[in-house]
Amino acid sequence: MAPLIELRGVTKTYFVGGGRLDVLNGIDLTIEAGEFVAIMGPSGSGKSTLTQILGLLDRPTSGSYKLMGLDVSALSDDEGAALRSRTIGFVFQMFNLLARTSALDNVGLPMLYTGDPGRAERAAEVLREIGLGDRLDHAPNQLSGGQQQRVAIARALVNKPRLIFADEPTGNLASDQAEEILGRLVAMNDAGITLVMVTHELDIAAHAKRIIKIKDGLVVSDEKNEQRRASPAPAGARAVMADGLVCVPPSRELSLEEFSEHVRSALGAIRSNKLRSALSMLGILIGVTAVIAMLAIGKGAQKSVETQLSSLGSNLVMLFPRAPRDGHGGARGASGSFSRLAMDDVAAIRRAHPGVLRSAGEVSGNVQAVFGDKNVNTSLTGAEPVYADMRNAQAYHGRFFTAEENEQMARVALLGPTVVTALFGDADPVGRTINVNSVKFKVIGVLPRKGSGGFQDQDDKIVVPLKTAMKKVLGRQYLGMVSIETAGPDQTDAVIESVRSLMRKRHRLPDYKDDDFTLRNMAEIQAALTGTSKIFSLLLGIVAAISLVVGGIGIMNIMLVSVSERTREIGLRKAIGATRRAVLIQFLIEAVAMSTCGGLLGIALGMAIAFGMAYFAGWAAVVTPQSVLLAFVFSAGTGIVFGFWPARKASLLSPIEALRYE
Ligand code: ADP
Ligand code: MG
Repeated sequence: MAPLIELRGVTKTYFVGGGRLDVLNGIDLTIEAGEFVAIMGPSGSGKSTLTQILGLLDRPTSGSYKLMGLDVSALSDDEGAALRSRTIGFVFQMFNLLARTSALDNVGLPMLYTGDPGRAERAAEVLREIGLGDRLDHAPNQLSGGQQQRVAIARALVNKPRLIFADEPTGNLASDQAEEILGRLVAMNDAGITLVMVTHELDIAAHAKRIIKIKDGLVVSDEKNEQRRASPAPAGARAVMADGLVCVPPSRELSLEEFSEHVRSALGAIRSNKLRSALSMLGILIGVTAVIAMLAIGKGAQKSVETQLSSLGSNLVMLFPRAPRDGHGGARGASGSFSRLAMDDVAAIRRAHPGVLRSAGEVSGNVQAVFGDKNVNTSLTGAEPVYADMRNAQAYHGRFFTAEENEQMARVALLGPTVVTALFGDADPVGRTINVNSVKFKVIGVLPRKGSGGFQDQDDKIVVPLKTAMKKVLGRQYLGMVSIETAGPDQTDAVIESVRSLMRKRHRLPDYKDDDFTLRNMAEIQAALTGTSKIFSLLLGIVAAISLVVGGIGIMNIMLVSVSERTREIGLRKAIGATRRAVLIQFLIEAVAMSTCGGLLGIALGMAIAFGMAYFAGWAAVVTPQSVLLAFVFSAGTGIVFGFWPARKASLLSPIEALRYE
């Protein structure tokens, strides 16, 4: 059977700052299963370097290394990691336990990377064996040095290794604790585990069965220890080993347990650096807040505009009087004349084109309406009876006025819901008499509710017959507007052209003069508004992109700091079997946890701002589930994109960093 360890001509050369340093100069070494070897030598003689090569943490510069006959130089990094986690345990001088992590979790860590079940039970079992059954929940800073080293030994044992490397395991301990630790190591060897221990103290090496001395990178003596010192081996030490060499990395799927462990440790890392994490989340938080709030308000505004537009009726073309532009900045009335629209224009327009369904004149103005001791300022619209149909304004309660009432200039009025509430509260206004600019009107109906969309309250108005409004209230001779209903959207352009040429003829405009009126079509207005909202979305997208990049850089920065701060931890995790992928995923999860925390806080804050605006300023705000989802996905994505580089950097660190990094 092949020896457990077989080194032939192993050398190690470091290249530092242009110079070369030959640390190992051709080591030949054979270690059989079950041995207890002490490696001795002066400081700097290459003991740690040799142990790291033996423990597959580092590769030799030349020479061959066979572990149970397997040439380990052919193994990939991840196969090496798998072999380490199943076969080899480490005990370091500096203990290398994870801070703020319980003894139980520290001991269970190697099993996280093998994916074996029953982690907590097995870790507790080993800790009990090593005499720490009552310290399971203690963090390293709540344990003595000797206890910390026992936790480290338990961690080395948890995966039932065949081989344990201990690099000056008692170097940081007081002598009584050193005795205890030695006792544990001897017991492990008694139970069948091969033990290689580095030390430079003779009375420590005296416990070993074989002592190898190295100097200047060469083995200078290799002897059986005839006067082996009896150790106070504690009872109850058992060891069960894996059957053969296992160097198949665990499955590539991320187990739920590993995932939740990473999420837990990510949240722990964020919590233990609260201020720092909060500051790095700020970019994402502000960006997401702005996007959510602006989207909500923009959507609300769009919705209220849509309601207003649809309440105006479809297929509507509006004709307004306007002074001609005369080239002097287009000032209104600069040429001294306003165009005028009269009732005979309305009649002519009705005959202008077969596509005209109906047309009606309108006037409007601001008035004061009084009932009893209540009064309101509102707008008065004078309209023809067909207004009810053209504008979807059939009386919701009561009735609309008739053509006769218009002809007779009857003083009858319909009130919008806002006016009703202001003057009558909950009482029924129909049949009452109100004063409009000191003219008495009988209320005959209530207009349907159109919705008070954002900018202008459509329900804050009074509608009376056109002639009554012109002659008795507003004192107008001309119309303020003519509304024209077309037979369908396909007729609109032709109708507009016919009305335009008709009006130019009626106003006797020579060819070189511009129109002295304006024709507006609701479809155009709608298109203009959609155009505006497209620009709005584009701006919003730019704001979002900039803030996510800024936020992402913040997160990347803090992750880079975190990776270099935690080099020891990363190296240790790799030493005990973490693959590159496992480390990459751990740090990615941390970055994503941070960015989604920022994103979620941003969503909450953005919604609060949007609804605050809606409540206090009366703006409409609509938070759609899509916008929340979008913000969430984007903030998580930012974490992945900007966390990737730092996480990759972490995953590529070599395991010996843990042992060298100060
Ligand atoms: P020991 O454990 O016997 O005290 P080491 O094996 O740690 O000695 O180191 C042996 C020599 O190699 C030392 O002189 C040290 O400075 C050098 N050395 C160790 N690691 C590195 C490295 N990563 N780069 C350069 N030199 C190193
Ligand atoms: Mg050393």
